[in-house]
Amino acid sequence: MPSSQDPVTGSGSLLRVMSEMGHEQVVHCCDPETGLRAIIAIHDTTLGPSLGGVRMWPYASEGEALTDVLRLSRAMTYKAAVSGLDLGGGKAVVIGDSRTGKSEGLFRALGRFVEGLSGRYIAAEDVGMEERDMAWMRLETRHVTGLPKADGGIGNPSPVTAYGVYLSMKAAVKSAYGSDSLAGRRILIQGAGNVASHLAHRLAGDGARLTVCDLHKSRAEHLAGLTGADVVEAGDVFEADADVFSPCALGAVLNDRTIPMLKADVVVGGANNMLENPERDAAALAAKGVLYVPDFVANAGGIMHVSCELEGKEESHSYRLAEAIYDNTLRVLERAGRDGATTARAAEALAEERIRAAGGSARRLRV
Ligand code: NAD
Repeated sequence: MPSSQDPVTGSGSLLRVMSEMGHEQVVHCCDPETGLRAIIAIHDTTLGPSLGGVRMWPYASEGEALTDVLRLSRAMTYKAAVSGLDLGGGKAVVIGDSRTGKSEGLFRALGRFVEGLSGRYIAAEDVGMEERDMAWMRLETRHVTGLPKADGGIGNPSPVTAYGVYLSMKAAVKSAYGSDSLAGRRILIQGAGNVASHLAHRLAGDGARLTVCDLHKSRAEHLAGLTGADVVEAGDVFEADADVFSPCALGAVLNDRTIPMLKADVVVGGANNMLENPERDAAALAAKGVLYVPDFVANAGGIMHVSCELEGKEESHSYRLAEAIYDNTLRVLERAGRDGATTARAAEALAEERIRAAGGSARRLRV
């Protein structure tokens, strides 16, 4: 979700911020007839066309929307690169309320802007979006994924995302405790939505001891009923006992207020942008001795799934791709140990090296 910091209105120069963050192109989209106000950010296309979700959110200001799309698109570059995908990073934000502001016209207008980028940006689903909205965009452009199965889509990415988080958790637990078995481990899951539910079922199958929570307590109770988990109040999650904490709700949950409370030795989950301030919070986790797997390493199953849709492959292929997340996680942890860097920095360095090897500008990513 948007941060209170706003790099653009603060500096007065979008081009300067783009140059500092490494963005290639930022497109402002306005269609007064449908009320569309959107921004598409293409971060880096060295490895392939930029791919990333469309987020519809009632941003308080244009500056807040711009900040969000710049950060999210850069994270997509890292996610694709460290996952071995031949894709770049992009993202789109639509300023509006997803409960009241949607129409076919609005998404067709956005689709025309995406079409105008000739495949340099490929849209997917993110917060506030549904398959139907993607299908409306598809009426105007081929450069869209996350379609309903009936329209050639590959289906919901959540099970594959959860599988990748599960493998990443096994790798992290191996690194922390010497064995990747999750049997008997106390695992605390924040959120009881799509990713969390698929993850909890896998973990229960391995004999892990689960604790779950959700802002909607009935969801947590329902999941607990199916998996034998304990339930904690959402507000108490940071103080609950655990070997592994798995954030699978919204972003920015780990910060200078919550990190001091954590009891877990390992943090690995599905939530995007789980660190409120990536550099500061990764360093605080490392200083506390908590092994943190960068979210964009652990939750890459979703983008792997979408990349299969792009290539016309079967759903089973997504699971085969996601197998790589176990080794990707170990690689990041080993690199962090070797460099004496945080795991977040180590993952970024691996991504930057891959882009450089493909001929991308080191300057753009400020290596
Ligand atoms: P979801 O909407 O199905 O589930 C999220 C759940 O979190 C909801 O039940 C919500 O009530 C709960 N929640 C929100 N804030 C909470 C809080 N503070 N405490 C406890 N519960 C809270 O979403 P999802 O698809 O499962 O995605 C979960 C996270 O994973 C998101 O950050 C998403 O961006 C990320 N992610 C998802 C995918 C995917 O394939 N779905 C892929 C990559 C990343």
